[in-house]
Order: sequence, then C-alpha cells, then structure tokens
Amino acid sequence: MDPETLAQRIDAIRIVDSEPERPVGVDPAAVWRVPVGTIYVVDQAELAVVRLANNAHAESPGLLGMEDYLPEPEPEPLACPMCTNRAELTVQGRWGDPATLICPCGHQWPLAPDEPAWSARQLQHTICQSVAENGVPGA
Ligand SMILES: [Zn+2]
Repeated sequence: MDPETLAQRIDAIRIVDSEPERPVGVDPAAVWRVPVGTIYVVDQAELAVVRLANNAHAESPGLLGMEDYLPEPEPEPLACPMCTNRAELTVQGRWGDPATLICPCGHQWPLAPDEPAWSARQLQHTICQSVAENGVPGA
C-alpha cells in the first residue's frame, strides 16, 4: 500500500527547469498531492525558439534582422485541457516520477507526457515549495 501525503495548499507555483535536491524527510515512496492555486508554465517550444534566435543574434548580430535580444516568454497559467479551469489545481505523484495534474472537477491529465523528466522536475519543485512553506506533512 502506498503512503499518501496530502501537503498543505500553496498559492501558486512557477515552473522552472532545474532539478532540486530532495528535502530532508521527503520519502521517495510517498505519493504527494499538493493543492496549488495556479500553475504558471512557460511554453517550452516558444522558449526554445526565442533562445535559438538570441544565440544566433549573440554570434552574428544583425543576421536575423534583430536589433536586440528577444524577451523570453512569460509564464502563463496552465489550464485544464477538459474544462479550461486554471485555479485550484492539484499536483500528484511520487518524488522522481512524472506529475499528474488534477482539477477541482476531478479531471486528471499528465503534465507534459512527452517530457517525463521535465514533468518529474516540476513535481519535485512543487514538493520543495510545499515543504519550504509548510514543512513535511506528518513530521
Ligand atoms: Zn477540469
């Protein structure tokens, strides 16, 4: 039987692309359910294009007709693919596994199924933020 850890709500998360350290007390076997207000994600495809253009501009200024570096895309609220709700989402999964998202209607969908490693990092980031704000549940 899986232990299940319901962390306290955090207001919002901003998704980043770094791998965090596992906080002390976080059991890798525990299934986390972290209710979050809103999840802000950057469009990874758009970000890749902007970085490519900026790298080209850095190497050969003017080649692409750019006067300056392009701004990187701002994080946007993630919406449920079934009902477009953007609030009161829950992030679920084990440390190191890809994240599942749950909306208040009960819809569930995998976060970025094409990029499981990236998805797993987002769950780790969410767990770290919950632990930083609320501590480890049950500890
Ligand atoms: Zn929904």
